[in-house]
Amino acid sequence: MKKAILSGITGQDGSYLTEFLLDKGYEIHGLVRRSSQTLRNRLDHLRNSSLGDKLHLHYSDLSDTPTLRRIFKKVQPDEFYHLAGQSHVGLSFEMPESTVKEVANATISLLEICRDLSKPVRIYHAASSEIFGKVSSEKQDENTPMFPTNPYGCAKAFARQMCQVYRESYGMFVCNGILYNHESPRRGENFVTRKITLAAASIALGIADSLELGNIDISKDWGHAKDYVVAMWKMLQTENADDYVIATGKLHSLQNVLEVAFNEFDLNYEDYLKINQKFYRPAESFKLCGNPKKAEVHLEWKRSYSFKEMITEMCRSDFKNLKSQL
Ligand code: NDP
Repeated sequence: MKKAILSGITGQDGSYLTEFLLDKGYEIHGLVRRSSQTLRNRLDHLRNSSLGDKLHLHYSDLSDTPTLRRIFKKVQPDEFYHLAGQSHVGLSFEMPESTVKEVANATISLLEICRDLSKPVRIYHAASSEIFGKVSSEKQDENTPMFPTNPYGCAKAFARQMCQVYRESYGMFVCNGILYNHESPRRGENFVTRKITLAAASIALGIADSLELGNIDISKDWGHAKDYVVAMWKMLQTENADDYVIATGKLHSLQNVLEVAFNEFDLNYEDYLKINQKFYRPAESFKLCGNPKKAEVHLEWKRSYSFKEMITEMCRSDFKNLKSQL
């Protein structure tokens, strides 16, 4: 039985990856930080399932290197998926220092811990399309130069480069997954897609009457988190570690998200949308659209969700949850 450690197990990707790996027969060790509540909405269904005894949670903040080292030494994992960190681009302008500490510095600490392990571990690092930032090419791939335009992107660019350094200098098996935006019903509520699907469902149920957004003149390459965690696993099953862009290769505007979400409830978004300057960012990312060709060929990775299916699934899930609380 393979053992995997996951940082960020309580997040959107961590929960889907846990489901996927448990199903493959892995023993999972998740790193969780202490909070005042022990409710872990995205994981509780797994902890209470028949596979729950293969899921172990360990307390450790990313800043707590001695504890992390102790857990890694004890578990001796075959694979490590590093997903934890402040993941919100807009918030990274408000808290740049902690974002950089969590995203960049913690990654070095974890690479160092893994370097010292007696048994080699295969590492997945969650890089991001935000490393590309100011792009001039219509589509980006693994060879596109990095030009981040926000604190989060800068920290991810640094961490990606450090992973390459450890791979090339110490021969460690470290893969960078350069993932474009991916969403799901488990997406955090302060991310724009989820904010929209929640608002549309709330308006349909009569518990809200408007939605406030900032700049809606943006387009993104949006895929489904469930498809993207499969790519993470596939990267660690290859012969040689490498970097891979994981994307849909298609841009959709925020208006597209609004249309699909509100149409699901026979509503017109223009009747409810208010623009609020408060939500504008100091700098918006350029139109980031990925070319996933390398992953499709080398990893035989293929996505299964369309953009419309994903937004519709999110709307239906939000509607069902909100209705059950009425
Ligand atoms: P989430 O925000 O849903 O989850 C982040 C996870 O990191 C949570 O488990 C969170 O714990 C944990 N975490 C944050 N800070 C700390 C800390 N100081 N110590 C310990 N744990 C911490 O992110 P996603 O699942 O969406 O993304 C996973 C990774 O992929 C992230 O690194 C993100 O930056 C990256 N990524 C995501 C993309 C996306 O579109 N989703 C695109 C590209 C990259 P807690 O539950 O306690 O808050």
